[in-house]
Amino acid sequence: MKFIADAMLGRLARWLRLLGFDTLYFRDISDSALLKIAKQEDRLVLTRDTHFLHFSGFKNYLLIKSNNTFEQLVELTKALTIKEFNPSRCVKCNGILIDVIGKKDVRMLVPEHIYMQNNRFSRCEGCGNIYWEGSHIKRFREKVCDRLEDIGG
Ligand SMILES: [Zn+2]
Repeated sequence: MKFIADAMLGRLARWLRLLGFDTLYFRDISDSALLKIAKQEDRLVLTRDTHFLHFSGFKNYLLIKSNNTFEQLVELTKALTIKEFNPSRCVKCNGILIDVIGKKDVRMLVPEHIYMQNNRFSRCEGCGNIYWEGSHIKRFREKVCDRLEDIGG
């Protein structure tokens, strides 16, 4: 399942990447360019505004109603009956995260205390960003997953 989020849904796009969904997001993109990518790459458009979609006749979209990011995620997982998530993608660029095999490789790339306290790191294939087990991002993912499970169960 692949998404492209409209300009209003930047936070939702980051949360979806965290949950492992291939999600494109561009802060500045025209409606027509967004639609073109959605068609070319067979992506579901996530949008707060169906106005432009009505005129295009394009049907592969999901209207997101809430203003709250967590509620938006609940809307989406319910509408698409999503129950499981994939390993996180890079929240910055949607890239795939690769496990770093040799810890020493990241020595110069993360703060020293992070290097000392963690043994497992991953690196984004796209932008090179480094992630580690105890990072805010990983903890945040756990929290979001827990809350979604509470609601789903
Ligand atoms: Zn990245």
